[in-house]
Amino acid sequence: MLPPRVRFAPSPTGVLHIGSVRTALFNWLYARHNGGKFLLRIEDTDRVRSTDQNTRLIFEILEWLKLDWDEEPVIQSSRFERHREIAESMVASGMAYRCRCSPDELAAKKAEAVTNGKSYKYDGTCRDEAVDCDQSVIRLRAGQTGTMTVADLVQGSVTIERSQLDDFVLLRSDGAPTYMLSVVVDDHDMGITHVIRGDDHLTNTFKQIQIYEACGWAVPSFAHIPLIYGPDGAKLSKRHGAASAVDYRDLGYLPETISNYLLRLGWSHGDDEIIPRDLAVEWFDLKNVGRSPSRFDMKKLQNLNAHYIRNRDNSSLMNYMLPFLNRDVDDSEKAKILRGMNGLKDRAKTVVDLAESAMTYVEPPSRYDSACSKYATEAHICILRDVIGVLSDVGISETEEQISQRFKDLSKKLEVKLVEVAQAMRAALCGKLVSPSVFQIIEIIGPKDAIDRISAFIQRFVG
Ligand code: GLU
Repeated sequence: MLPPRVRFAPSPTGVLHIGSVRTALFNWLYARHNGGKFLLRIEDTDRVRSTDQNTRLIFEILEWLKLDWDEEPVIQSSRFERHREIAESMVASGMAYRCRCSPDELAAKKAEAVTNGKSYKYDGTCRDEAVDCDQSVIRLRAGQTGTMTVADLVQGSVTIERSQLDDFVLLRSDGAPTYMLSVVVDDHDMGITHVIRGDDHLTNTFKQIQIYEACGWAVPSFAHIPLIYGPDGAKLSKRHGAASAVDYRDLGYLPETISNYLLRLGWSHGDDEIIPRDLAVEWFDLKNVGRSPSRFDMKKLQNLNAHYIRNRDNSSLMNYMLPFLNRDVDDSEKAKILRGMNGLKDRAKTVVDLAESAMTYVEPPSRYDSACSKYATEAHICILRDVIGVLSDVGISETEEQISQRFKDLSKKLEVKLVEVAQAMRAALCGKLVSPSVFQIIEIIGPKDAIDRISAFIQRFVG
């Protein structure tokens, strides 16, 4: 087989949907697995709804996910002349014709069909007329007999009666090409061999194949992948929490998590769940893409993210996390966070969690969780005063083990469980009851900072 040429063709009419990202990933993997090319085309034919911001985000997200494209991206709107030229040549060859039916006439016929409970299809009024008028549209002359079969690489063989197809519009009366025409002309000119896209485009495929046939062009292979649904079975949308790729990035999911998660959503390789990029490239094929809709599972995504957070090396995780911190940190603060990274990364489900916990190493808590007040009782405050006493003996370079030994001794002396002492310390040091080891925190922030934080806690609750 010749190396395939595939493309990702998003429309910048909305923020890039996470389902579109999966389409991009499957195309990219197909190209890389088969030594082919992955091309990018921005389908900005809807000039009113397409925005520069949405276009910019498409590039940004593909770069974030390391889905690098080959060749110059194609901007569909810059090719309108070419699309028009093809429509005109189809009229010249008799494969298309001009139609002057007005929108009002068409709407009336459509309404009549609806009233009579019939499905509407253009009735071919202008099919055999020599229309010469500025206000005309160009319609495809659809074949009316026989069947058409698409051997879809995911959906299998799908056949329809050609009589169901109508003479759809290729060029509007203002000279603007329709999506149906632009897609085919561009896929042909870009030498696309495999069209891999969401299964909401399956019905368009039959229309598009007629354009290929009319132009005498080779028809590419098609693979329509099932859409992604929310846990309630409705198409994944903002209503389910987050639906755009940018949302997931901003919620603190790593690109390797999103990539692995989307891959498994609709494609499988035995029972493998953790599939890093290199294995994905090695294993990917369209054969193992499922036909049933995929359900987005937030819990699974979080667990996978926790896995990839634990597996990132500390300094790369640090750099990734910096923009998520609530302020800039200097080199010495960075060094403290890095020392505590092992403790932090074991607990975080997202980089947002990680960044929030990381601030424990550089500044006192800005607030205390309500659960912390449990450790503001008289008895606990007494313990914390003893903790301050112990801390004032801790040397600047003592290790976590040495520090922890001192507190084991204290708990024995006070006849209080160590966990009780440690939780009271945690509330005061971190403002919450879940954190890395308090002894490690003290080792990193130093005894003086620890004393200040505990004093502030006592002050806050006792005055
Ligand atoms: N622009 C279309 C979309 O965003 C994709 C068209 C295609 O892949 O053929 O849904």
